[in-house]
Amino acid sequence: MFCGGASLIWLNMYLRIRYFVPIILKAKNAMATYKTKGIILRRTNVSEADRLVTVFTDTEGKIKIRAKGVRWLFSRNRGHLELFSYSDLVMAEGRETDVLVSAYTIEIFKSIRNDLKKTAAVYYLAEICDKMTVEKEKNERIFNLFLDTLRFLDILSPSLLSSVVPLLTSFFELNLLSALGFRPELSLCVHCRKKLQPIANFFSYKLGGVICPSCSLRYDPKSLKIDPSTLKALRVLLSYNLEIALKVKIDERHRQIVKKISEGYLRYIAEREFKSKKFILSVNKKQSSGN
Ligand SMILES: [Zn+2]
Repeated sequence: MFCGGASLIWLNMYLRIRYFVPIILKAKNAMATYKTKGIILRRTNVSEADRLVTVFTDTEGKIKIRAKGVRWLFSRNRGHLELFSYSDLVMAEGRETDVLVSAYTIEIFKSIRNDLKKTAAVYYLAEICDKMTVEKEKNERIFNLFLDTLRFLDILSPSLLSSVVPLLTSFFELNLLSALGFRPELSLCVHCRKKLQPIANFFSYKLGGVICPSCSLRYDPKSLKIDPSTLKALRVLLSYNLEIALKVKIDERHRQIVKKISEGYLRYIAEREFKSKKFILSVNKKQSSGN
């Protein structure tokens, strides 16, 4: 009786382990994976075969994932994590870092990849997008801004690059800041809140927008002079609509002021310089000297 009872207990335990543990593990695994779509911002090699990949996704915001074995020649995910490509991703939640299960390229942006000037521009956009955002904070406006910009740049004729890329960069900087809650005030004086007159006003990084001449003298003497044409161009660029924004009629002098303001305001908010600016400058220098 006693032996029989003990056997039954052991049998019961065996059956539980044999049948229920795999089911529980399977259910746990099923819950721990998730699908998303994202743009590859950055890749860093870790260990012998792995890569740490930073992706800006539509559903999770910015995430960092570990792509195990992806540097092996025969890894099936190897060709689907190209820098700046747009990919379908399946991830498994990890204790510290989520791990890539599978990747599939949706758009590779071949023309960006084959043009050094386009690549340099996207390096900068990816860097500011990476440095200005925190992990796992969904932001569809930033995701759409980045994807639209990549699609536009991919089909842009090389002959238009010199005139369009600076404006496209300002468009990206201003709308990125706006999506992060730093939309500059461009209609009212940022200090006294009076409607701005069509005269020379000033742009204050410190106060986050345009300031009237009398307020500028008292509250931010370091603010930059901004004429009505530049102000109009900034308003159009902040529209989030790339097609409309890049139709703005602007001469080289005004384009330089727009660039100074959008770049300077981003740097002021970020409280830092961006490394890839140096890369863009060296590419432009090389290309203008004919190399
Ligand atoms: Zn004022």
